[in-house]
Amino acid sequence: MNLLSAGAFINGNWQDLECRFAVRSPLDQSVLAEVSDCGKAEAEAAAAAAVSAFAVWRRHTAYERATMLACWADLIQGQKEDLARLITREMGKPIRQSRAEVNTALALVRWYAEECKRIMGESIPSQFPDKRLQIRKMPVGPVFAITPWNSPVSMVVRKVAPALAAGCVVILKPDEKTPLTALQLARLWDAVGGPAGTFQVLPTADPAPLTEQLMADPRIANLSFTGSTAVGQRLYALGAPTMKRLSLELGGHAPVLIFADADLEAAVAMALSAKFRNGGQSCVAANRLYVHESILPAFTQRYVEAVRSLKVGDPLDESTDIGPLVNAAALHKLQDQLQDALTHGAQLLCGGTADGLWFLPTLLGRVGPQSQVLREESFGPLLPILSFHNEAEAINLANDSPYGLAAYVWTRDLGRAFRVAEALDYGIIGVNDGSPSTPQAPFGGIKLSGLGKEGGKWGMEEYLNVQLVSLHLPYPKIRD
Ligand code: NAD
Repeated sequence: MNLLSAGAFINGNWQDLECRFAVRSPLDQSVLAEVSDCGKAEAEAAAAAAVSAFAVWRRHTAYERATMLACWADLIQGQKEDLARLITREMGKPIRQSRAEVNTALALVRWYAEECKRIMGESIPSQFPDKRLQIRKMPVGPVFAITPWNSPVSMVVRKVAPALAAGCVVILKPDEKTPLTALQLARLWDAVGGPAGTFQVLPTADPAPLTEQLMADPRIANLSFTGSTAVGQRLYALGAPTMKRLSLELGGHAPVLIFADADLEAAVAMALSAKFRNGGQSCVAANRLYVHESILPAFTQRYVEAVRSLKVGDPLDESTDIGPLVNAAALHKLQDQLQDALTHGAQLLCGGTADGLWFLPTLLGRVGPQSQVLREESFGPLLPILSFHNEAEAINLANDSPYGLAAYVWTRDLGRAFRVAEALDYGIIGVNDGSPSTPQAPFGGIKLSGLGKEGGKWGMEEYLNVQLVSLHLPYPKIRD
């Protein structure tokens, strides 16, 4: 099977458009494929196909949808290694982490294949003897999904699997840097007999025109977006005229609180992966490390040693921990943040230089309160280490952010674990856990980190409307 299909996937057909754009690998800037560049005409064709497909797909039984999703998972599993290598070549994630991403995607598809058999209604007692109140759930309709590049397989599946399971159909616009993985997922859906129009993929180099068209289309019921807060805010406004249902999974600025009673070794190891997994290019990545002042020197020494031992290199090499950044814009953003912190008096603890797109894992100490890195997501391997005096100050520092996606706490005191977790204004809290995200649990933030949830039963509710059927019975009493 040719992995590098370049066509758009519309209404069950692969369409090679004359207008194309190049997808380049951050590993060596080689062109991986020339991909069809969709615009308004393709958006219109996809919307029409989605409406027809929805009318049929929603009538499939949950058991039929479950079987098809399980078959899709089997094909993804069969292509696990090819998909992992494609992720790595498209966006530079180290190969071991790309395999872990495909495993997450698989777990999501399998979970939703099961969960779609459990879309339950309810029966509510009425105050009137001649009435019966039935509550049922129904699919919202055609969904428009927009995904980012940092986890190009699992981010797609986290939207498409619950939407298809709920009886919806999906038009996906993948990130322009990573359309090939999304197209391959559609190819596999096609191969298991996924009906035409149920899952369509529209790559584009310029997302705005296509997006504006679909956002203005009243036939599209739902927008599910993962990406930056700035774009999410624009889409929120675009959804108002047609009253779209929206799930917005946006940026984060995760604080990490390490208390004096923490298991230091475990905290170092897990805070390392919480920050440097995928080179820090994750919305739940640690962005600010706050350490109790009494253990700051000991923690910093161990953490710097651990960071220095990370292997930076070819992401296709099995032993690599840190690959290249996705593009030059990401590199320049990190360099600007670093320069700004140094200008405000920060101390460079390790790293600080780049070789091409390979930015060395970088730690900063004594970071001034005005530094950008304390306000903006770094989305790369750059991390400030600061100290706190007591529990109240730690909580205030952590909550002093307009974002509210993930936060982490390290302590062995059970009372403190609960007190602090309950005081943090974040959607996801890892207590002594650097990887709290898992397919069956809700994933999503509050404040500027977005609306709604993905994952678990909550992820499915985003694609379901609740309907009341009130039944008036003409003869409620049993007759003799
Ligand atoms: P981005 O917002 O620039 O891009 C994300 C997606 O939006 C891409 O598909 C892109 O093509 C599309 N897009 C960009 N401009 C658009 C427009 N005008 N109209 C329609 N679509 C448009 O985000 P990015 O900077 O590439 O990705 C990183 C951001 O995504 C970070 O802020 C990160 O925290 C966030 N993110 C959040 C989650 C989450 O689950 N909360 C997960 C991954 C990434």
